[in-house]
Amino acid sequence: MKVKKLTTGLLSTNTYVVCIAEECVVIDPGGEVDEILALRRGKSLVAVVATHLHFDHVAAVADLVDSTGAPFYAHPADWAVYKTLNAIAEEWGFRIPDIPTPRPLGERLWIFDVWHTPGHTPGSVSLVVNGAVFTGDTLFYRSVGRTDLPLGSWDLLVRSVCRLYGLPWSYVVYPGHGPETYIGAEAVGNPFINSDVCKNKRPP
Ligand SMILES: [Zn+2]
Ligand SMILES: [Zn+2]
Repeated sequence: MKVKKLTTGLLSTNTYVVCIAEECVVIDPGGEVDEILALRRGKSLVAVVATHLHFDHVAAVADLVDSTGAPFYAHPADWAVYKTLNAIAEEWGFRIPDIPTPRPLGERLWIFDVWHTPGHTPGSVSLVVNGAVFTGDTLFYRSVGRTDLPLGSWDLLVRSVCRLYGLPWSYVVYPGHGPETYIGAEAVGNPFINSDVCKNKRPP
């Protein structure tokens, strides 16, 4: 598996182009559609996936889907979030392009196990593959996703992060913003949710 990272959009979202052999998947295209397409180097784009439907993670979805025909996937629980997206974006002073209606994510997509990790949004997912996990805005280097936006839930976020800490601690974390980290490094050193917090919070 090859992972290429691009920082896109006004909120510096991490966009990942993940390729194996002649196939690639794009995770969280926040902008820079031409650069994303260049990174896949002629390989076929089999899916575009959003870890959640905040505007900074989907801004380039429509352009990508239009130019490649790749299907777009997201968790259905985030459709309500998307309905409020434009209102939020306008509060921040900008507009976002429309996105095509996402196909619902199941438990498996391409090489990924899809984990439903709600909290930052109701439909946030983490994409787990052998040795790595793409966490969107659920878990960051030394931080976790905010839960004060519409439909966020701190209690659900704690359960979701604790579930991620159940992965092998050697797994690389590719977050939706900021640098990569490791599951173990966050389980020990995350200042918001560490493994001690999780002892009383088993995932449901
Ligand atoms: Zn977000
Ligand atoms: Zn984000």
